Parts: sequence; structure tokens; C-alpha cells
Amino acid sequence: MSKSPLILEIKGNSLDDGPGIRSVVFIKGCPLSCTWCHNPESKKAIAEISFETKTCIGCNTCIETCTMDALSRENPFYIDRAVCNLCFECIETCPSGALEQVGKEMSISELVEKVIKDKPFFDTSKGGVTFSGGEPTIKMEFLAEVVKAFKEKGVHVLIETCGQFNYERFNELIYPHVDLIYYDIKIMNGDDHKKYCGTSNETILENFKKLHRKFLDGGVEVLPRTPLIPNITDTEKNLAAIVSFYKENRVEKTQLMAYHPLWQEKNRKIGIKSSANSEEKMSEWLASERVKECEKIFSEAGILIEK
Ligand code: SF4
Ligand code: SF4
Repeated sequence: MSKSPLILEIKGNSLDDGPGIRSVVFIKGCPLSCTWCHNPESKKAIAEISFETKTCIGCNTCIETCTMDALSRENPFYIDRAVCNLCFECIETCPSGALEQVGKEMSISELVEKVIKDKPFFDTSKGGVTFSGGEPTIKMEFLAEVVKAFKEKGVHVLIETCGQFNYERFNELIYPHVDLIYYDIKIMNGDDHKKYCGTSNETILENFKKLHRKFLDGGVEVLPRTPLIPNITDTEKNLAAIVSFYKENRVEKTQLMAYHPLWQEKNRKIGIKSSANSEEKMSEWLASERVKECEKIFSEAGILIEK
């Protein structure tokens, strides 16, 4: 297996992924498989092909190009991914950009060169670079070299992680080059975590405890964050369990992320069939009143909500 992950996207001028103006590097591949994943195209570590119906002008050039007969208007997802060999020739011939390759190789020097152009914006806004995904630690050696390169250039480095990684390797390779860690705490019940995220949460909770202890001892700040997913993570029972975990571990601050249903459209583009049940339950944006109720559960326990 390659030691370099595929890069999904590098988004510049972000104001939503940490302090100041940031460039966000989205790395493809994740050890979890959350039902509500807001970036479903980042789940698999391999390159994929996406199709955007709204952009397609119906010229049929791609159908004529494809030697595998993988494309058909009869197919609700347009591409038969069981047949497609990912040659990407249809993308080359598509005049509208409706077909796209998802996930591209990039060397460390290419990545650093592309992001470092924005250093003047980072410097004036106290921003920097954020590694997200997917799960940025999926290829630990690659990430280690990249974060080290940015630190050497004086850039603030933030990692957004699901916490499912080997702690010793993270501590040795990544930790010394990071300024801030955003850490997802989604579901406290182990069975529910497995049901909705595909793995148990033991490693995630243990890793968090170790990193947070280091923070209390003067180490890198670790901000735990919970996505508010209707009827899954936003239940009174789950939020109360998270609060008690935070109190036990002397956590004083958290961030809550309101759910949005845009991932379902992304699922269709990438050919992931969502179960009707999950789509039914998750078709609405989370109401601001519900977000406030969830915030109250934390603030009444003396835990600050970072906006
Ligand atoms: S990537 Fe290749 S095989 Fe797949 S649909 Fe396009 S042309 Fe056909
Ligand atoms: S080549 Fe592009 S624009 Fe033409 S039919 Fe295929 S996807 Fe649509």
C-alpha cells in the first residue's frame, strides 16, 4: 500500500476550520464510516469518479468514450462502478466538468508549495493550515513530513481527527509539530458507536484521555467536538454521557457542530446508496432551537461552548 494518501481538495481562505484564515487540506480515507458523514467522498482511500447531473449537458461524449460500457442514462447513478475501471478517459472528454476524478496524488513538496503561497494571509490573521479528511492520520508518515515542513516555515498547524489512530505513533510523529487538535467525540455508548460509525469507540476515548492529560500538563490544546446528528448523537442520553466523560477528565471547553443534510447529494454524486431509513430521518437541517437546547446541556454543567 502507498505511503502517500490521496488529496481530496485543498480549500483556501477558510474561516470555518480553526483560528484566522486557513488553508484546509482534505485527505482521502477514513477508518470510521459514519452514517451521516458530511464528506462521503472522503471515506475511501482510493480514487473515485463523481457525476454531477446538474452540470451535464447531455452530449453523450462520455458514453461514446467509455470502452467498458459503464455509463447509462438508465442507471440512477449514471456510472456502473462495478464495471468502471477508473481509466478516467471520460473525464478528459467531458466538455462540462460533470464528471470528475475524486482524489489525486500530490507530493509533499507540491502540497507545501501550493499552501505556502497563502502564508501572508495566515500571518496577518493568525491563521494557518488545517488537516482534515477523511482522517488526516490515515498515512501517518506522510502527515508527519508535511506538518514538520509547515512548522519549519512558521505556519500554525491544526489537525482535525476522529481519534482512531495508534497513539504511540501519533505522539512520536505528529504531536511535536502540531499547534492545535480538534478531536471528535461522537457517541459514548460503544455499541451505538459501532452501529453508526463502523468501529467501537475504545481507542478514540483512550487516545483522547491521554492527549487531554498532556494538554492539562502544558501540552498542545485538544478541543473535543461533537457533531449534532438528529436522533443519533443529539439525544439527551448521549449528550449527558459526553458531559460526564468531560467532567471526569476535566474538560472545560467543547464545540458542537450543527448537522446539515447536504451529504446526501454528495452521496449520490459518488454513487453511494443511502438507506431510505437514514435519508428519511436526516433530510432536515438541525433547528437552531435544538442546537441551543444541546448547548444548554453542556453550559449548565459548566462546560464552555466554543463558537
Ligand atoms: S472512468 Fe473509464 S471505465 Fe469508468 S466510466 Fe469513465 S471511461 Fe468508463
Ligand atoms: S460528456 Fe460530460 S456533459 Fe457530456 S454527457 Fe457525459 S457527463 Fe454529460
